[in-house]
Amino acid sequence: MTGGTQHGGTYEDWQRRARELALPTAHLIGGTQEPGGGATFEVVSPRDGRVLAEVAAGGDAEADAAVAAARRAFDHGPWPRTAPADRGRALQRLADLVELHRDELALLISLEMGKPVAEARDIELRAVAATFRWYGQLADKLVDEAPHTPGDALALVTREPVGVVAAVVPWNFPLTMAAWKTAPALAAGCTVVLKPAEQSPLSALRLGALAAEAGLPDGVLNVLAGQGPEAGRALGRHPDVDALAFTGSTGVGRHFLRYAADSNLKRVWLELGGKSPNIVLPDAPDLDRAAATAAWGIFFNQGEMCTAPSRLLVHRAVADRVVDAVVARARTLRVGDPLDPATEMGPLVTAAHRERVLGHVGAAHEDGARLRAGGAATLAETGGHYLLPTVFDRVAADSRLARDEVFGPVLAVQVFDTPEEAVRLANDSVYGLAAGLWTADLSTAHRMSRALRAGTVWVNCYEEGGLEVPFGGVKQSGHGRDKSAHALDKYTDLKTTWIRL
Ligand code: NAP
Ligand code: MG
Repeated sequence: MTGGTQHGGTYEDWQRRARELALPTAHLIGGTQEPGGGATFEVVSPRDGRVLAEVAAGGDAEADAAVAAARRAFDHGPWPRTAPADRGRALQRLADLVELHRDELALLISLEMGKPVAEARDIELRAVAATFRWYGQLADKLVDEAPHTPGDALALVTREPVGVVAAVVPWNFPLTMAAWKTAPALAAGCTVVLKPAEQSPLSALRLGALAAEAGLPDGVLNVLAGQGPEAGRALGRHPDVDALAFTGSTGVGRHFLRYAADSNLKRVWLELGGKSPNIVLPDAPDLDRAAATAAWGIFFNQGEMCTAPSRLLVHRAVADRVVDAVVARARTLRVGDPLDPATEMGPLVTAAHRERVLGHVGAAHEDGARLRAGGAATLAETGGHYLLPTVFDRVAADSRLARDEVFGPVLAVQVFDTPEEAVRLANDSVYGLAAGLWTADLSTAHRMSRALRAGTVWVNCYEEGGLEVPFGGVKQSGHGRDKSAHALDKYTDLKTTWIRL
């Protein structure tokens, strides 16, 4: 482990480590590093706009090779037939290695997608290790069913691994999303081809190498770098992929349903976008905490969060107090180099993404919202893609900022007068990923939570909860659940064996 303080080190430490870091650039297929056919793509660091690495760009041939390796490992290799406790031990060894290499993995994430390195280390990597450990511990605790049957028969309902799983994931939590897919799939006995986002292949390739070091047999976890329309599409259409687990935008999720329909009808699990409402009632137990959490939630990870509480719905009686506090926080938040442990918000992932976010800012102006903070790029001299934390109030319910996912640090504030109106506004979205609710009244909390169409409702908090609870959406936020034992449903089939005695 590298030295430094208990928080991972100083700004100078992280800069030095960045200079000394070796960057993986080849696919990991069947246990070996494969450069592929020679095509590459550039990974650019959002902190300064400089090219970090040229990484192998997978296409049809590399996808075929990766799926063939996973297929062999599933059909003929030991993994699906290994004792569940042994599979579990391998996953727990991977958790140990993730912890051991936490600084290095945090640095790769921070460099490739711009998350503050301290948050990558203390939040993301902690979650990644916890995910492999949790499913590693679960692997040998699953039980099958023997339903009551007539006396002359015995029935067994057993869970079997679905086979080859392809996991296509985004860049905003590159290793958390990878772990949420791969850990339960591997625990179930499946083999996996992981396709990271083009912006964040480095951390995923390093994770693949650590999995091999942890003793996962060759071909059990393959990492295919490359771009969505080539590598991602090839996996989506591949006849030998049995299940496809996707996290990303709603638009690309539609592609995967089409790929499946046009190929082998593989099952497709979708964790998609969001426009999550965060409702503050006047009887919130602590309005200051509600405001602080609203601000933390929308600016955490540069707002590049599928669950970001991007619509603050606040009761008129407390609106000024809450919104003023959020605006004050937006103005003091420290935006800067993600390698500086004092940084609270890093750059957006790419120059193109920052332009898209600024497009949403322009639309908000055009639609008559009032800018209270931010609204512009910053730190141009760095060459990085920085944006100021942004707050608009007076956002009309039918305006673009109230409806469209921004995936950036831009908050839309709407005011309501009754709880019924708050629920109506909250549900007036094509998305249904998450919602927040602040009230001290138990009945109000339960009544409103039931009425909110969302996969997760947080009451008097936001973004909380561990591996024990499922995560996913309703409506156009997708279907299927990551985390918890329910995630295994995506990677297992139920087999009925009926025996006449
Ligand atoms: P994205 O553009 O949808 O990309 C996600 C993944 O799909 C990437 O690996 C991407 O590869 C690949 N892809 C892109 N186009 C493809 C195509 N035509 N065929 C096959 N694969 C394709 O999403 P993103 O910009 O990376 O991430 C932001 C989105 O993810 C937001 O909408 C956010 O809400 C959502 N998200 C959802 C959750 C959740 O759990 N619900 C969590 C995090 C993020 P390339 O990068 O190489 O193009
Ligand atoms: Mg993309």
